[in-house]
Amino acid sequence: MDQNKPLMLRLLASSVHLAKRAGVEVNRIIKTGSLGVIDKGVQDFQTEADRTAQRLIIASLSKQYPICKIVGEEELEDDNEADQKLFDMSYDEDVLKQTLPDQYKDIKDEDIIIWVDPLDGTTEFVKGCLESVTVLIGISHKGKAVAGVIHQPFPNYASGARDEVGRTIWGLIGMGYYGIEPKQMGQDKLIITSTASHRNQFIEDSINAIKPDELLRVGGAGYKVLLVIEGKAHSYVFTSNGCKKWDTCAPEAILESCGGILTDSFGDHIKYTDTGRINHPNRLGIIASINNDVHNNILGKIPESVKKELLASQIIDRLKH
Ligand code: AMP
Ligand code: MG
Ligand code: MG
Repeated sequence: MDQNKPLMLRLLASSVHLAKRAGVEVNRIIKTGSLGVIDKGVQDFQTEADRTAQRLIIASLSKQYPICKIVGEEELEDDNEADQKLFDMSYDEDVLKQTLPDQYKDIKDEDIIIWVDPLDGTTEFVKGCLESVTVLIGISHKGKAVAGVIHQPFPNYASGARDEVGRTIWGLIGMGYYGIEPKQMGQDKLIITSTASHRNQFIEDSINAIKPDELLRVGGAGYKVLLVIEGKAHSYVFTSNGCKKWDTCAPEAILESCGGILTDSFGDHIKYTDTGRINHPNRLGIIASINNDVHNNILGKIPESVKKELLASQIIDRLKH
């Protein structure tokens, strides 16, 4: 019966269910006391929680949606036995009850790419800043981020609570958002959020030019976009490469469902196509804001020197691959 529901509703219902289940796995792995940390690069880690969450999400989605392309952050060995143990074909019933806007009724599996960041904010996870950790599943259609889920396993960790049940936020552009109360902010002072663990000169130059009244340095792309939606920061500024399409697809779709906007440092939307590049980088950085006015104001303050460097690094990257 549920199989007769339209593809986009089923994809989102599966993604919401799997993000919540991944959160349960993350919680379970923390309690084992053994994170199994692997170093992937500078301030770039992978833990048993990243691996298990990705295996669960990708094995389950690819079995159910064999034609859709699915891209996950982690490079894992094929392990059918491990996949079998994790398969989960359930849907989130609240999503299935929604009425899908007409624009999505006839979409085709081959036009979909699902972007999976099984654990965003791994650097903070390893340090024990658990409120920054999120599970991200984004759905793009013909290169545009249209739907997504952000699951936060430890939403109240910063205030000292030991969460057993996480918080799940999802959205589909044109249908709405769920699990979050968007809040506009006053214009009396400007609050910016940016990376805590991947700082560099390009980002610092932009922040210095923007001159925020307050700067919130926190981890995770998903977490920072939640701060923007909830009226704790006007914009998320990251004028550097390093962030990937799986970091931004779900946050972008949810933010846009809430009336906000996420683009690169030039104001262009990120294209969620498979360009064949390893790591699917957002080479020109990302800016996410609660509304267009704030966004244009921030874009206008990014120094030309930073923009030139971003373009140059994009060209070098193209020549290398
Ligand atoms: P952050 O704001 O530093 O927490 O980064 C947001 C997301 O982008 C996380 O998934 C990071 O792993 C990723 N990211 C940002 N910069 C880098 C970098 N220089 N190397 C690897 N990953 C990065
Ligand atoms: Mg990430
Ligand atoms: Mg990750």
